Amino acid sequence: MTTSKTTRHLLGISGGKDSAALAIYMRDREPNIEYFFADTGAELPETLEFVDRMQDYLGKRIARINAGRDFDYYMKLHKNYLPSAQQRWCTINLKLRPFEEFAGNDDVIQYVGLRADEPQREGYISTKPNIQTRFPFKEDGITIDDVREILEDSGLGMPKYYEWRSRSGCYFCFYQRKIEWIGLLENHPELFEKAKEYEKFDEQTGKRYTWSERESLDEIEAEKDEIKAKFTLKPSKEKKHKNLIDAVSDDDDEEDDDSCLICML
Ligand code: SF4
Repeated sequence: MTTSKTTRHLLGISGGKDSAALAIYMRDREPNIEYFFADTGAELPETLEFVDRMQDYLGKRIARINAGRDFDYYMKLHKNYLPSAQQRWCTINLKLRPFEEFAGNDDVIQYVGLRADEPQREGYISTKPNIQTRFPFKEDGITIDDVREILEDSGLGMPKYYEWRSRSGCYFCFYQRKIEWIGLLENHPELFEKAKEYEKFDEQTGKRYTWSERESLDEIEAEKDEIKAKFTLKPSKEKKHKNLIDAVSDDDDEEDDDSCLICML
């Protein structure tokens, strides 16, 4: 696709640090850039507050887009099966489709905040022929240290939830590690309880439907002290972490993820 005067330049803000830094980075590089935020209706209050502050900083409207239906609607549509890394219907319905509708049939360049120090990830990016994807941080060699610097220099800093969680996304996101669930419990107990309500135990089949593959949220809550103790021991890896969540990001005892480019950059 060649770039013309009518090409739209779209940048999705997830509420995470990388897309926030990219929004700042691109502000003076592409004057016609349009920002958007796909709100799943299950965002953390800190994310919504950060997106508001970003809009003030950027001095440009961040279009709030959504699917028109909420998570519970799609949950019913998927026979009440919780989404998972293998069945990520939430991302498709609540993030990807609203973005594709927002783009319509226009020629679009979508800017994605994948950094130069991350492995390439292809999933959950639109493959519509009118949408071309660019990765400016990869192209320009921007790494995590640069991202931190961009955010600090802007005065925005990191989103507040990074004190207890490593990524943006829904409060119940199945990509959370155990220590992050404990963070949700301690920072937003009412959201932790709401997340619990989605978990089910089928007495007839004995099957459990839980956010975390290995444990229910009740079990994670019961292990709270052990989980916290385990993470306070992590600095023994001799890595310098500014806060607990940096240690979580480096944790290699739990499964790696291939979290999506839409929800969590
Ligand atoms: S943040 Fe997690 S739960 Fe929410 S749409 Fe993305 S993958 Fe799904």
